Amino acid sequence: MSRKPYPLASREEHPEDSIVRVGHVLIGGDQPVLMAGPCSVETREGLIDIALAVKSAGADILRGGAFKPRSSPYSFQGLGEEGLRYLAEARSITGMPVISEVMEPDAVALVAEYVDILQIGARNMQNFPLLKAVGKTNRPVMLKRGFSNTVEEWLMSAEYILAGGNPNVILCERGIRTFETSTRNTLDLNAVPVAQELTHLPVVVDPSHGTGYARYVLPMARAGIAAGASGLIVEVHPEPEKAVSDGQQSLTLDAFAEMVTQVRQVWTAVHGLPRGSSVAVGQINA
Ligand code: PEP
Ligand code: MN
Repeated sequence: MSRKPYPLASREEHPEDSIVRVGHVLIGGDQPVLMAGPCSVETREGLIDIALAVKSAGADILRGGAFKPRSSPYSFQGLGEEGLRYLAEARSITGMPVISEVMEPDAVALVAEYVDILQIGARNMQNFPLLKAVGKTNRPVMLKRGFSNTVEEWLMSAEYILAGGNPNVILCERGIRTFETSTRNTLDLNAVPVAQELTHLPVVVDPSHGTGYARYVLPMARAGIAAGASGLIVEVHPEPEKAVSDGQQSLTLDAFAEMVTQVRQVWTAVHGLPRGSSVAVGQINA
């Protein structure tokens, strides 16, 4: 019997790292997984253009919110099912799996029909009916840490999903509330090694919400990978100043391409080259 209150998420009974497979992408494997795209799905053409651009820059998975949790009821709430349709279309054009947020239990079946990964947002980390509902699907789930929740509470929420029968959970550190106001949130990179010690589930980092400002995203993306994260989720927009949500923290396409290059260098510095890498073979032959 495990001593931890989250036996399924705990490393005690599952010492090996879990790898979550999404199509051809392995999260928690020997390469960093980069999820990128707009905060909100805005238009069909816009989404397809971003999808093609982030893919050619090196993204593995396309992000985009269709159901948006907004602080104000007067802010853009997302395109809903229309946005999900555009995501599915972008996937068929690019071959990239897609991730999008689901906010309520009644919408889980609909969102799961269109997307490859269900995102649980920070505001819903302890929406237990929602956790139970995604636990009953066969879609991988990315569980964002609530901005006022401890690592233990985060793992207890992961346990709800695992206990429902869904083993494919990815944790995402996206920043917590502190007294600091110079950034939108305080990206708690301590949580990466702490969570990795306690759980076998893969951990990714969101430096966009974690900082709130595009100019801080690159250094904190590098730091997230250096801390041991299995990947990153970042917001990208071709014209951040025109984005309907979170433009301030969205990278331009060029900045994202630069981030991919630098993050891969950091990954190699921390983990070495991936198995089967042609560069590694070249070095062995040299
Ligand atoms: C998002 O990913 O756009 C989002 C709303 O994130 P969070 O739940 O972390 O605030
Ligand atoms: Mn956002």
